[in-house]
Amino acid sequence: MKKVLILEDEVSIRSFVVINLNRAGYEVLEAGTGMEALEKLKEHPDVGVAILDIMLPDIDGFEVCRNIRATDKKIGIIMLTARSQEMDKVTGLMTGADDYMTKPFSPAELTARIDALYRRIGSDTQSDSVELTQGPFVLNTRNRTLDKEGKRIKLTQVEYAIMKLFMQNPGRALSREDILTTVWGRDYDGELKIVDVNIRRLRIKIEDDTANPVYITTVWGFGYKWGV
Ligand code: CA
Repeated sequence: MKKVLILEDEVSIRSFVVINLNRAGYEVLEAGTGMEALEKLKEHPDVGVAILDIMLPDIDGFEVCRNIRATDKKIGIIMLTARSQEMDKVTGLMTGADDYMTKPFSPAELTARIDALYRRIGSDTQSDSVELTQGPFVLNTRNRTLDKEGKRIKLTQVEYAIMKLFMQNPGRALSREDILTTVWGRDYDGELKIVDVNIRRLRIKIEDDTANPVYITTVWGFGYKWGV
């Protein structure tokens, strides 16, 4: 069964999530503090998606996210933010989250987001080993890895999906909407900004000079283009 962890100190919200995810067929682990979440994830390495609240009694959700990402690049991470915390979305994504949801959210929206993350984690596993080599980059679609000049670049699932899309479309301008639809799925109803934040993070990982990107270039008013 697909496993999800919910980290939320407000019992009413946590129970709401548990009930709805159980109904959607997920096994749900619960944590009320950041430390508890990290311990449970260590005990259950098969958790596919973690939902992290930001305001917590001990360490905050960003810290938890950073801690998870330090050892696990594959798990999907969704941050829960309050409506007033606009900046939190960006901060959360920069610390390695794949997605965020603003409270209050509907159960249907939450399960759609988790399903989308699970699809990304599970996709490609059946496909043949294909290596895409472009310039200094080698993308391996079986292992879902990216190397630059023979060195592994650690990517989140979302970053990997964006890189794959780019490397399958070299020299082609891709609109932000195209990237959002391909990577986050057609049902995703989040904001286009999530694309920009992930591109910013990718540039930090793959560009020689983040201030003057040469691989991922901006197509003003439209989107981005990959080239080597
Ligand atoms: Ca909270």
